[in-house]
Amino acid sequence: MAQTRALPALNVPRYLTSFDTGEVPVRRTDVLVIGSGIAGLTAALCASELRDVTLLTKAGLMQTGTWYAQGGVAGAISEEDSTQLHFDDTIAAGAGLCDTEAVRILVDEGPDRIQELIRIGASFDTFQGRLRLAREGGHSLARILHVGDTTGSAIQATLVGVVAERERLSVHENCFVVDLLTREDRCVGALVVEPDGTMAAYSAPVTVLASGGSGCVFWVTTNPDISTGDGLAIACRAGADIADVEFVQFHPTALDTDDSPRFLITEALRGEGAVLRDGHGNRFMTDVHPSAELAPRDIVIRAIIDHMREGGEHRVWLDATEIDPAVLKERFPSIWDHCASVGIDLANDLVPVSPAAHYMVGGVLTDAWGRTSLPGLYASGEVACTGVHGANRLASNSLLEGLVFSKRICSAIESDQNRVPDDRVAGVAGAGGGPVDLDVGPLRRAMSEKAGVRRTDQSLRDVLSRIADASSALSFDCARPSDCQKQNLVTVAGLIARSALIRTESRGVHYRDDFPDPDDRQWRKRIVVTRENFMRTVDVAP
Ligand SMILES: Cc1cc2nc3c(=O)[nH]c(=O)nc-3n(C[C@H](O)[C@H](O)[C@H](O)COP(=O)(O)OP(=O)(O)OC[C@H]3O[C@@H](n4cnc5c(N)ncnc54)[C@H](O)[C@@H]3O)c2cc1C
Repeated sequence: MAQTRALPALNVPRYLTSFDTGEVPVRRTDVLVIGSGIAGLTAALCASELRDVTLLTKAGLMQTGTWYAQGGVAGAISEEDSTQLHFDDTIAAGAGLCDTEAVRILVDEGPDRIQELIRIGASFDTFQGRLRLAREGGHSLARILHVGDTTGSAIQATLVGVVAERERLSVHENCFVVDLLTREDRCVGALVVEPDGTMAAYSAPVTVLASGGSGCVFWVTTNPDISTGDGLAIACRAGADIADVEFVQFHPTALDTDDSPRFLITEALRGEGAVLRDGHGNRFMTDVHPSAELAPRDIVIRAIIDHMREGGEHRVWLDATEIDPAVLKERFPSIWDHCASVGIDLANDLVPVSPAAHYMVGGVLTDAWGRTSLPGLYASGEVACTGVHGANRLASNSLLEGLVFSKRICSAIESDQNRVPDDRVAGVAGAGGGPVDLDVGPLRRAMSEKAGVRRTDQSLRDVLSRIADASSALSFDCARPSDCQKQNLVTVAGLIARSALIRTESRGVHYRDDFPDPDDRQWRKRIVVTRENFMRTVDVAP
C-alpha cells in the first residue's frame, strides 16, 4: 500500500454528551428503529407484525431523503429482463468491489419486495395495462418502476399510510438520536433529545439504524438538510465497523443554481433521450462510452468534469429539446415545473447542470442480514454498507436496497430478542474544546473542492487539517441537536477524507488525479475503519 506520510488521526469521542440513564426517563421497546425513510419504515412495518416497535425520526415523518427520489426503483420484472442481467449490470457498475452474495440477494429478492409494495398501495406508472419501465445509466434495458418523476414521495406516502394502521408501532417525530447506548459491547438502545429538548433513553434489545445519507458533508449536494451523516458518526462512536466511505457518488446532472439542496434532473430524462452538450453545443458523451449519456454515473461525471475544465466552465448543458414536449410534461412534471419556475423552458432551452454530492456508497458495514459488527445493532438503507454498490451505485438500486435488506433484518431479529436490558448505562463526553459556535460552511466547501469528484494526496491532507481544526473548535459535550449535527458532519468528513487518502488508486466514484488508474493488485479491497483509527482492508472475492 503506497503511503509515504503518516495518516492524520481522527478525534472521535465515544459519547457526545455526559449522561446517566438512571437520571433520565427510560422508554422500553422490543425494536427501536431510527429513521422514517424507506429503510426505517419497511423495517418498522415488518417488525411490528410480531413485536412492539418504536420509530424515531429527528424531523417530520415525511422529511427524508426517500421523499426526494425521482427516477424510481430498479427491479427485474419485465419478460425481457432477468435477475442475472440486473446482477451483471450492478456488478459492472460496482467496478470490482461489489459483494457478489449481497448483489445476488438484492436482485433475486427485489421483485418480491416491489410486489409487496404494490400490494400495500404503491401505484407505479403503467402503459396499456403494463408497468411502464424507464431506463437509466448503467442498466442494459428499461427496468426502473416510477411514479412520474416523484417516485420517492409516492413510496413514502404509501408506507406512511400503512404505519398509521399498525397497532404495535409507535412513531415519534422530532426525536434526535445523539448516540447509541452500549453495555458489554452490545447495543442496548439510544440516547435521545425529545421534542421538548429534554433527554431520554430508549432501551431495546434490537436497534435498527436507518438514518439515511450524508450529502450535507459537502457544500454542493442534492440531499435535503436532514442528510447530515448522523447515523454514520453515531455508529462509529459506538465502535461499529465503517466501510467504503471514500466512495461518495456525485450526480452528474444537478440543476446549476445556488440552491441548497440542488434540484436534481433525473437520469431518466437521459433515458428518454436527453443529451449532454458542452459550452460550444457539442455532444461529448458519444466519444467517451458506447452507452453515451447512459454510461455508469462515474464515467459520465468524469467526462463532465473534463469538459468543464477544458472549457474553463463550471457547468455543462442538458438538451431535452428533441423529446416531444407532451412526453416531457407528462413524464417529468416536477422537473418541467421546477425548470419553468427558474425561467427554463425544458422543451426549448438547454438546461445548465453540474455535479453535486448525491449518495453515500459506503456506510456501517453489515452482513447479508443487516447485522453490524456491534451485536444488537442492525443497519439498513443509505447509512448501511451491504456491499451491493461496490465502488459505484447503479442508478435506482438504493430504494431497492432499503426494501430488501430491511425485510431481511426482520427475519434476523427473530433470534435476537433474548436480552432486554435494564441496568443503568452512563457515559462521559469525550474531551474537547469549548462550546464554540462553529460555522461548518467553510469545511463543507472544502469537502466539495478538495475531497469531491477529483482528489489528490495534497487536497485530502488540506481538508483533513481543516477537519482537525474544526474538531478542536467543537465542544464534545453537546446535547443540542444542531451542535450534534455539526459534530457528526465533522466526523463523517474525516472518515471520508481519510479513507480517500488511503485508497491510492482511482476506482468507481473515487478519482485520484495522482493515481488515475485502478490498481487491482493492491486495491481489490475494501477499507474498513473504526473509531480507534484502526484501519484494515478486506479482500473482495473475484
Ligand atoms: C434528489 C434525490 C434523488 C434520488 N433519486 C433516487 C432514485 O430515483 N432511486 C433510488 O433508488 N434512489 C434515489 N435517491 C437515493 C435514495 O433516495 C436514498 O438513498 C434513500 O431514499 C435513502 O433511504 P433511507 O431510508 O436510508 O434514508 P432517508 O430516506 O434519508 O431517511 C433517513 C431518516 O433518518 C432520520 N434521521 C437521521 N438522523 C437522525 C437522528 N440523529 N435521529 C433521529 N432520526 C434521524 C431522518 O429524519 C429520516 O427520517 C435519490 C436521492 C436524492 C437526494
